[in-house]
Amino acid sequence: MKAAPFDYVRADSLSHALETLNQFGGDAKLIAGGQSLVPMMAMRLARPTCLIDINRLNSLKDIQLQAHEVKLGASVRQRDLEFHPQLNSHLPLIAKGIQWVGHEQTRNRGTVGGSLVHADPSAELALAALVLDVRLQLESQTDGVRTLQAADFFLGPMFTAVGETEALTDITWPVWQGGRIGTAFEETAIRKGDFAMASAACQIQTSADGAITKISFGLGGIDGTPLVYPELAASLMGQNMTPELAQHIAHAAAQQSQPGSDMHASAEYRKHLAQALLTRALLSAYQESLNAQAA
Ligand SMILES: Cc1cc2nc3c(=O)[nH]c(=O)nc-3n(C[C@H](O)[C@H](O)[C@H](O)COP(=O)(O)OP(=O)(O)OC[C@H]3O[C@@H](n4cnc5c(N)ncnc54)[C@H](O)[C@@H]3O)c2cc1C
Repeated sequence: MKAAPFDYVRADSLSHALETLNQFGGDAKLIAGGQSLVPMMAMRLARPTCLIDINRLNSLKDIQLQAHEVKLGASVRQRDLEFHPQLNSHLPLIAKGIQWVGHEQTRNRGTVGGSLVHADPSAELALAALVLDVRLQLESQTDGVRTLQAADFFLGPMFTAVGETEALTDITWPVWQGGRIGTAFEETAIRKGDFAMASAACQIQTSADGAITKISFGLGGIDGTPLVYPELAASLMGQNMTPELAQHIAHAAAQQSQPGSDMHASAEYRKHLAQALLTRALLSAYQESLNAQAA
């Protein structure tokens, strides 16, 4: 099938893009990498009357690294994250997660913002954004700028808080301070590059005696959005991770999810997978934090 007819506008500034979005009042869509939108249009699951191309807006491609946070423009390509020389030390969880996002070819075009706004429940960047509790900045011509935390951004499968005439402009990722940090990103997919059947991400900080001083973790692909577990995480503070504890926490987390069944896996199998992946992620991130230096 081919896409339904549409107009095309190449935005030459953010205000031009926002003005055009406003003119079409919800019938237009921004196009970034096109790696999700174009297939959706080809299947006629999306039928925008106008595509507003934001690929020439350099203001949306900035990467600003500071000691305590990294600000990524919405149109930063996934490939540019993967090969950024300092990103691994600032945001090791993204560096691990990005390896699982599609293929080299899709990462060459796909953007961070496009992935977050598309909001596939299996998207690795969405899971990392929730685990690290990123701050997202949105802008529209009529309402100006507003910011949201990740927990308020993802509302359901392919459904976010982004309004029809709003653009995501940048995403601020907190950088944990103090060293002794470990991260892990685990995933199972039918083939390398496919969307995850289930995924788990975890970031842990420990004290010199191995007690957990900060932890955040989540699961992807097993509910309408990726899930994070602040209450379970709080219950781990001050504890040393053991295989039994990791299994117990992973079981509790997986039980809180409501995965669907499809041709690839039953709901029960997805829960089982999520539990196994999260157990592995908790143990591996914990071990990495023990091996890491204090800052
Ligand atoms: C073969 C294949 C395999 C893939 N595998 C994976 C995978 O394993 N994991 C994964 O996470 N993804 C995967 N993807 C999707 C890929 O990561 C896309 O890059 C991503 O989902 C969308 O990014 P994009 O820049 O291409 O956005 P686009 O396709 O251009 O846009 C997606 C949506 O976001 C909106 N949008 C884009 N930018 C903005 C903005 N700044 N403000 C507001 N709205 C905006 C668009 O209007 C559209 O609704 C795969 C894609 C393909 C084709």
